[in-house]
Amino acid sequence: MIDFHCHLDLFPSPSAAADEVERSGIYALSVTTTPKAFPKTTMIAKGRKRIRTALGLHPQLAHERHGEVGLFVRLLGETGYVGEVGLDGGDGFAEHMGVQKDVFDRILRACSDAGGKVMSIHSRHASAEVLDALARQPGAGLPILHWFSGPTAHARRAAEMGAWFSVGLPMLRSRRAAALVALLPRDRVLTETDAPFASTTGGQYPSSALSDAVVCLARLWDADVEATRRQLNGNLRTLTETTVAIRRPTFDLHGGRPPLVRLGRAASPGRVDASNG
Ligand SMILES: [Zn+2]
Repeated sequence: MIDFHCHLDLFPSPSAAADEVERSGIYALSVTTTPKAFPKTTMIAKGRKRIRTALGLHPQLAHERHGEVGLFVRLLGETGYVGEVGLDGGDGFAEHMGVQKDVFDRILRACSDAGGKVMSIHSRHASAEVLDALARQPGAGLPILHWFSGPTAHARRAAEMGAWFSVGLPMLRSRRAAALVALLPRDRVLTETDAPFASTTGGQYPSSALSDAVVCLARLWDADVEATRRQLNGNLRTLTETTVAIRRPTFDLHGGRPPLVRLGRAASPGRVDASNG
């Protein structure tokens, strides 16, 4: 199974959450909300083959943490993955849209200068602004829209721009799920939990939320669960081969053998209450 957006560092016990990820054979992208949290969060993934750590600066924290963009740029060479980044136009955050846009633009420019990254992107109540920013920096890398909740027209535009999508239970159970999911290219969808902000009870890592998400997705795709699982695993493989193509570190899906290098493809979330670091 795949959890392409979770906050392992924000669990009451990050190491217990990481143990559960390993035990369940989950490939996880552990995103961070501030650059300061990144070095410590990479330690959670140390020695764990299926967990990768993304460097982030969460849009809900941008007005407080914009001073860390310099640190973000300095740390960027240490990872192929960026997240959680993006824009948030929801209550309490729309008034900081100016500084959010400035931070997001600088992050995308840095990703572009670095040759492109795989990016997990937040776009709550700001999907048009996020897509505009991505369009201004086409070299920033591969955008994966996390928990997309914008209008269907924006989902269509994102898909046309080549974006990927990570989907979790709250999104898949929403009233609009069927209409949205129908627009997402099946070969560019991954699952996520956004835990511990979503899907979590009692501070445990929610493995069952991922299997439930696969079941929901299968229903929406009118496919059987096993075929859905195969599609998702194939998508992750494609993604990692794409990352290899842009010479980035990748998940070890190849049993220790060096991955095949391919040319080809150019080389609504809740509120963030806590943040380590
Ligand atoms: Zn998140």
